[in-house]
Amino acid sequence: MKFYSTNNKSHKVSLKEAVIKGLAPDQGLYMPERIPRLSADFIDQLPELTFQEIGYEVIGALYGEDLSSEDIKELVDHTLAFDAPLVEVEDGVYTLELFHGPTLAFKDFGARFCSKLMSLLVSDEKVRVLVATSGDTGSAVANGFYKVPNVEVIILYPSGKVSTLQEKQFTTLGENITALEVDGVFDDCQQMVKQAFLDKDLNEKMLLTSANSINIARWIPQCLYYFYAYSRLPKGDRKVVFSVPSGNFGNIAAGMLAERMGLPIDNFVAATNVNKIVPDFLKGVPFRPRPSLQTISNSMDVGNPSNFYRLLDLYGEESTLKERVKGYFFDDATTREAMAEVKAATGYVMDPHGAVAYLGLKAFMEEQPDITGVFLETAHPGKFGDVVEAVHQEKVELPDRLAAFLNGKKKTELMGNDYGEFKAYLLSKK
Ligand SMILES: *Cc1c(COP(=O)(O)O)cnc(C)c1O
Repeated sequence: MKFYSTNNKSHKVSLKEAVIKGLAPDQGLYMPERIPRLSADFIDQLPELTFQEIGYEVIGALYGEDLSSEDIKELVDHTLAFDAPLVEVEDGVYTLELFHGPTLAFKDFGARFCSKLMSLLVSDEKVRVLVATSGDTGSAVANGFYKVPNVEVIILYPSGKVSTLQEKQFTTLGENITALEVDGVFDDCQQMVKQAFLDKDLNEKMLLTSANSINIARWIPQCLYYFYAYSRLPKGDRKVVFSVPSGNFGNIAAGMLAERMGLPIDNFVAATNVNKIVPDFLKGVPFRPRPSLQTISNSMDVGNPSNFYRLLDLYGEESTLKERVKGYFFDDATTREAMAEVKAATGYVMDPHGAVAYLGLKAFMEEQPDITGVFLETAHPGKFGDVVEAVHQEKVELPDRLAAFLNGKKKTELMGNDYGEFKAYLLSKK
C-alpha cells in the first residue's frame, strides 16, 4: 500500500517513509491510496469476535501488503493490551471508555501502535523519536514506546512547568526513554526539536522522527475501537451515531475511515468546546484557523485542527461531509452542568472532554431521537481531577497504576536552552 499527500495525490510514498516522515514534504497529511472495503460477512460476525480478532482483520486489510501476518498480530496485540468497555449511561446512550491505557487517555492506542510499527519497519537500525512536551504528549509517547526494541525516545520538557504527575509519567521509566529537563519554556523545547529535524548534518548521522499526532501510525489504529464499539451494541435496526470530542480531529477522522471501510455508522457528531472552527465550517462558515481559547477541556483547545484536510479527503465532497457530520460546540458552564446532571441522574462521572461529546450527542438526538448513540470518553475523570472535583464537590480516585507513578524516582538530564548543547548530546548517543 502506498500513501499519498492530501496536498498532492500523485506524491506517493511507502508505509515506512510515511511513518518515519510523519508529515509529507509539502506539509500535506498522508492517506492510504486505497481504502479497503471489508466484507458484509465480517461486519455480521463482529459480535462474535474479540477486540484483537477485529484488529487483525482491519489492520490486515490496510497493512497486509507491507507486513506479515505475524507482524500484524504482534502489532495489534501490543496496541490492544487493555479494554475499551462500552457502558450504557442512559437508554440508548452509550459511552465508549477509551481511558483504560497506561496514561488514561485514548492517545495510548495511537502511541502504542506507532511505536510498535516503527520498530517493525526499521528492524535493522535505530530510530530516535524526539518529542517536545508541555505534559500530556510526553507521557503518552513515553509509555507507548517503553521497552519497544530499536526505538529510543528523547523527551524535552520545560523544567518546573509541567505537573508533578505528568512529569513522573515520563521521567521515571528509564530504559529506552530519556527525559531532558530544559532550562526554558515549552516553545524553547519545541524550537530545539524543530531545529534538529532541519539539521542536515545530524539527519545524515541518525534516523530522527517525530511520532506526532498526524502520523498515520497514530491516526489509523484509532479506527479499531469504532468497530469494537459497534460490535458490542445491542442488535437492532436503529441508526448508529458516534459523537466524538474533537480538537485536532484525528479521532473522528479515524471513525470516518472505519465507516469508509464498511462499518455501518449513519452519522458523526463533531463536538467541540468554544474552539468551534469545524462546527462553524459545517454550518457554512469558511474554514479559518483562529488562535485557540483556553477551556476546561483543554486537550481540545485547538485553533487550527490539523486533521481537517483528512475529513475532506475521506468524503471527497464538502457537501457529503456536511451531510454526514453534524457539528455542535459548548462552553465551559454548559459542560460543567452536563457533568453534574449526568452524575445526579445516573451516577456516571464524565471527564470534561467526554461531557462535550455527551452534549453533542444529546443535541443531535433532539433532532433525531430514534437512534443508538455512542459518545467517546477520551480521558479518565481523574486526569482532570481539579475540574471534576470542583463540579461534584467530592474526590475522584486515581487508578492504582497511575498513583504508582508517583512513587517512581525521577531521572532526567539537565539541558540548557541551547541547540548546540542538544545537538552535541544527540551525537554523543550515537
Ligand atoms: C487529544 C484529546 C482529544 C482530541 O482528540 P483529537 O483527535 O485531537 O480530535 C479529546 N480528548 C482528550 C482527552 C484528548 O487528549
